[in-house]
Amino acid sequence: MSEPLLDVRDLRTEFKTDDGIVKAVDGVSFKVEPGQVLGIVGESGSGKSVTCLTVMGLNDSKFATSTGEVLFRGEDLLKASSSRLRTIRGDEIAMIFQDPMTSLNPVHKIGRQLAEAVVLHNDVSSKQAYARALELLKAVGIPRAERRIDDYPHQFSGGMRQRVMIAMALINNPDLIIADEPTTALDVTTQAQILALLKRIQDDFGSAVIMITHDLGVVAETADDVIVMYAARIVERGPVRSIFNEPRHPYTWGLMGSLPRLDTNLERLYQIPGQPPSLLNPPSGCRFHPRCAFAMPICRQQDPQLMPAGSDTLHEQACHLDEATKAREATKLVAMLTAGAPS
Ligand code: ADP
Ligand code: MG
Repeated sequence: MSEPLLDVRDLRTEFKTDDGIVKAVDGVSFKVEPGQVLGIVGESGSGKSVTCLTVMGLNDSKFATSTGEVLFRGEDLLKASSSRLRTIRGDEIAMIFQDPMTSLNPVHKIGRQLAEAVVLHNDVSSKQAYARALELLKAVGIPRAERRIDDYPHQFSGGMRQRVMIAMALINNPDLIIADEPTTALDVTTQAQILALLKRIQDDFGSAVIMITHDLGVVAETADDVIVMYAARIVERGPVRSIFNEPRHPYTWGLMGSLPRLDTNLERLYQIPGQPPSLLNPPSGCRFHPRCAFAMPICRQQDPQLMPAGSDTLHEQACHLDEATKAREATKLVAMLTAGAPS
């Protein structure tokens, strides 16, 4: 098999805080193949953003410590110098954040910001950079791009600003795009347009994408493979179809049960009660047990390990429930969710 683009092994990131050590990522391993779209899903506070910030070397080194390996084309980014990381972030890995306003400079025109980014990484004249900026704005679907290139960020809507950020991310034709909740701040229609754009770009440019979201619906529309994170750990992973057809972890059932539905007359069977735990002092055993409708005594004591699940060999879950119960509950849930769904 060829080398994966990104191979994250037993990643752990801790923050020193006034209240103690927060283990924000606690033993996470995954791979991303070239051109693959990996969805990372979980409620707020599960360690999704910190996982990706650690991959990119963007944690504040004064408070954060990371161990494990982040192999990008075989090179361990945890050991890379900050100048090497800057180069990789400019040329090979790009990141798209939830709020484009934090990444755009309000006092400069859109075109100038894009052109400057082009010049920073390529040996081109400013005229060529401007032409490339325009080309990118068209590629991400900015209408009347020739005129809008001279607008300021505040003159753009949220969706249009996110398109600009995607254009910015594409400047160097990155091999990996990490998109952290890129559509969370947008209305449903704009969200669908941005996801379609990301999908198209991934097809056209062949970039691999890590799509971070709290919304399993976003994952369903974009990802090839899915990682479900809970309280700093992976609780379930697999190909997207396998996750949706044969979900095996009660937490995943909860996320699926909370998906918005077109027909609202069905009860939401698996709505998850309570809140995710603090990572200062997470629950013993399975971290999900205090919220789990299926919790057994063992769940309080023993930390479940990732094990094969369902019929797909790449599907894994970490839950003590027996396979027969999980299969039965999953079949029930999937039947409920597909009943009455538009075909
Ligand atoms: P998610 O992206 O899944 O919502 P995060 O990765 O942002 O979650 O956060 C995971 C945990 O790490 C949370 O409990 C959060 O409070 C904590 N955390 C994140 N960044 C820091 C930081 N800089 N210092 C201390 N704790 C942090
Ligand atoms: Mg986050």
